[in-house]
Formats: sequence, C-alpha cells, structure tokens
Amino acid sequence: AAVFDQLTNSLEAAWSKLRKEDVLTRENIKEPMQDVRRALLEADVSLPVVRRFVKSVSEKAVGTGVIRGVRPDQQLIKVVNDELVSLMGGEMVGLEFSKTKGTPTVILMAGLQGVGKTTACGKLALYCKKKSKSCMMVATDVYRPAAIDQLVTLGKQVDVPVFEAGNQIRPAEIAKRGLAEAKKKGVEVVIVDTAGRLQVDRGMMDELKQIKQVVNATEVLLVVDAMTGQEAAKLVASFNLEVGITGAILTKLDGDSRGGAALSVKEVSGKPIKFVGEGEGMNALEPFYPNRMASRILG
Ligand code: GDP
Repeated sequence: AAVFDQLTNSLEAAWSKLRKEDVLTRENIKEPMQDVRRALLEADVSLPVVRRFVKSVSEKAVGTGVIRGVRPDQQLIKVVNDELVSLMGGEMVGLEFSKTKGTPTVILMAGLQGVGKTTACGKLALYCKKKSKSCMMVATDVYRPAAIDQLVTLGKQVDVPVFEAGNQIRPAEIAKRGLAEAKKKGVEVVIVDTAGRLQVDRGMMDELKQIKQVVNATEVLLVVDAMTGQEAAKLVASFNLEVGITGAILTKLDGDSRGGAALSVKEVSGKPIKFVGEGEGMNALEPFYPNRMASRILG
C-alpha cells in the first residue's frame, strides 16, 4: 500500500457523510471532523497537532457559507487541503546556496544510524550535479569504516568525488580539510556525511556542532525516517534545539509508513522538510512540495 492510502480512504469516508447536506454547519461537520481526527491519529500525527488542525478546519469550514455550485463535502475538502498545505509549511523551501563568491555551499548531513543518511548524501550529490553544480562529498564517520566505503561507493555511482582521511583524525578536522580541498578545486557544493548513532547522545550533538562551526555550514539537514512517524518530528525539533538545523530530509516515504512524519515535522519543529526520499536508488529524491503532498493525501 502507498503511504497515504489508509489516510486517503478514511478521509473519503468522512466527506461522504456530507453528501446530503446543503451547507456546512457546526452540527453536520462534527462527525466528519471526528473521522478526520481519527484518520490523522492513525497516520501517527501527534495529538496536539491533530487538535489544532481539527479546530482550525472546523472554524474555517463553518464560516464558508453557501458557495453556488460547490457541494458542502467539496467545500470541506478545500478547507482541509488548504490547512494541510499550511500545516506542511505552505511553500516549498529549496536548498540554500552560498552567496559568497569562492565560498562553496556546505551541506552538513545529520541523522541517526540507519535512517538513510549516507544514501541521502549520494542522492543530494546527484541532485546538485543535475543542477549543474560541481560537487564533492566528505566522509567523517570515523567510527564505522564501512561507512566511509559506502560513501566512496555511492560517489562512484553518481560520479562525484569523495574526500576521506581514514578514521584516525577527528571528524571536524576531516571536514575542515575536505572543505579546503573543495575550495582549492573550485567545487561549488560540499556535502558532509557525519556519523549517526543508535540514539541521540551528547557526543553526537557536540560533534555535529563542532563540524557545523568549522565548515560554517550553509545547510544543516537532519535525515529522518518516515517509518518513525511523530518520533521523526520530535527528533527534528531536538536536533534543531541542540545543533541548529535548516531543514529535514524525510526518507523511506515509499515504505510502510503512514505518513504522519510528513504532516508533523514543520508544525512540531518549526523547520521545513526540504526533500523526501522514496526509494533506495540515487534518483529517488524529490523536493518537498506541501501542495503536491496535500493532493496525494486527498487522493
Ligand atoms: P545511514 O546509516 O543513515 O547512513 O543509512 P543508509 O544510507 O546506509 O541507509 C540504510 C538503508 O536504508 C539502506 O539499505 C538504504 O538503501 C535504505 N534507504 C535509504 N533511503 C531510502 C528510501 O528513501 N527508501 C527506501 N525504501 N530505502 C531507503
């Protein structure tokens, strides 16, 4: 099943309850709005977010009055669509590029182990290449030798050079040397892969802060796994508090997730989702468009 299937079906059931009505009222939207509430909770959107969403939609829906030629169920769908778009941040927020000539854009990639961070580095490198930006990746995961090899392999796959300095040097120092190398070669975008951990810990946060400072990162993107639902949104919030991030990449949206993360991240963390990953291949990365996502949800 696709990620939003269940949500889409539950919402359709909600609209169908309004087919016989002439106008949206406080009374007749109660039941469909309870269905919306349940559907969002089942999609693993957090309770406070669901509450605010339902309240806001209900108020706006009742205020719409009669619109000639538009059925009440369609009117409610329109309100829900607009609120979904706004919940997800409204506009698409693209990558920020360096504004200083001769200074490369540095994208620092953070995330827990297994979420798809290294894969996302490769995908992003290919994305930048397609935008005609010269690119380099830097391997700073000194704890797992396999992580360096993995990045080198991905680099070959997308034809982007990888800077690595083994695992005997501190990550921040590797990042610094990688950036110097990139400047020397006139590379425009430097993507720094970092070490993940199984859980959030002090060491990881401190290391990220150090690297961020040393390379003066243009973007700090937290990679989160859509399968973890509202937890993903909480992670974005806590990394933002600790390290200061510029956005999130939501991976594995092609899997069995219920979509709650896509709906929660912006509201819970204040930071936008900038990209979504929908597959293991290097091409499976798309900018996150709230309006397209809302259309997918509403079917
Ligand atoms: P890291 O530990 O965060 O660097 O995670 P990896 O990049 O090694 O990815 C962990 C696993 O998730 C790998 O098997 C990837 O192929 C897979 N993966 C990464 N992104 C996606 C995605 O968007 N969809 C799917 N289905 N798998 C993904």
